Amino acid sequence: MLIRHLHRQLLELDAAGLRRRPRTVASPCAPQVTQASGQALLAFCSNDYLGLAHHPTLVAASSEGAQRWGVGSGASHLVSGHTQAHAELEDDLARWFAPHIPGARALVLGSGYAANLALMTALADGQTTIFSDKLNHASLIDGSLLAPAAKRLRYPHGALDVLERQLRACDTPIKLIVTDAVFSMDGDVADVPALLALAEAHDAWLVLDDAHGLGVLGAHGHGTLEHFGLCSERLIVMGTLGKAAGVAGAFVAAHPTIIAWLVQRARSYIYTTAMPAVQAHTLRASLALIESPEGDVRRAHLRNLLAQWRAGVQPVLAQRPDWSLPDSYTAIQPLVVGGNETALRLSAALEAQGLWVPAIRPPTVPVGTARLRITFSAAHSMADVAQLLHALADVAQHLEPA
Ligand SMILES: *Cc1c(COP(=O)(O)O)cnc(C)c1O
Repeated sequence: MLIRHLHRQLLELDAAGLRRRPRTVASPCAPQVTQASGQALLAFCSNDYLGLAHHPTLVAASSEGAQRWGVGSGASHLVSGHTQAHAELEDDLARWFAPHIPGARALVLGSGYAANLALMTALADGQTTIFSDKLNHASLIDGSLLAPAAKRLRYPHGALDVLERQLRACDTPIKLIVTDAVFSMDGDVADVPALLALAEAHDAWLVLDDAHGLGVLGAHGHGTLEHFGLCSERLIVMGTLGKAAGVAGAFVAAHPTIIAWLVQRARSYIYTTAMPAVQAHTLRASLALIESPEGDVRRAHLRNLLAQWRAGVQPVLAQRPDWSLPDSYTAIQPLVVGGNETALRLSAALEAQGLWVPAIRPPTVPVGTARLRITFSAAHSMADVAQLLHALADVAQHLEPA
């Protein structure tokens, strides 16, 4: 019965064009991808925004770290898995955020998904209201669902007037405003200064998920808070280390009491094996690279590629007025085409020209806003972007109406 039940639903997904499958890649994370089938593609889909995932400095740090620490941590942090490498990584991150959160401490977790569960489950109790932007990442949504005692309110994407009314009407003593700093499917940046002002005016806390801002935004790549030059005790930041930082893992940076509480209560921190020390060691090298002059060069190159893309895609948009390019100055540059079928056919047509640009469909994005989620990396060249623009113009011209 279970198998028949699932099989029927899989067939329905097939029929709706919504069945998803992982592809097997036979090369490191880089713009030039070789698939297991042997086919080569130029990829615009990773979140490796600075091109660090196969950077020789980090590969060397990883080998050296493995020699020093071995490959496994052996236990959770509170048992015996917490090494000097983890502690030093947490110190590095605390230093990054000290200008933005006075006295900040940091806690490293296995993934951004786990970090968001940690935050929401440990902080949101029966005295709490969670205010969430409707386009928040799935991990924040899941985290708030795992805090059943808390009150949960959502506001339409970026609708701070609605949020303000909700805050004014709220009668719980603890208020958590929760938002992506850079929205993962649109690339737009939340109005963090206005959100923080609302938090301060209403005695609320601002939980920022900076998965896509870290490394990319800010003069030293420290992320969205550095970009806006903000500082407040009321900020709680989650950042992932598998995107621009090029490795894997995540952290929370916040007031020391918040970090101390997460250590006591966050189940996704407590009941899981600590990330390998070699990974923490490698991440320290990644953070150093991000804030180094080489990091600056990589961010500047990325900005140039984004300018080339946004200017170069205008003729395609003129030709297809039903498509749109949301306002984004980040590495995430979606081309919204509307229907699932159109997005899939476009992605397939680009693939036939040797390009890997994923189609993103509901439920990941709202119905009717299927899109190509195009992401750029400092590892791309201007010639790569030119190739994408050329193929897109060609494909847009020849795509039959859906
Ligand atoms: C990727 C992502 C996460 C999850 O991070 P992982 O380290 O991949 O688990 C959380 N929030 C946002 C906005 C993300 O894009």
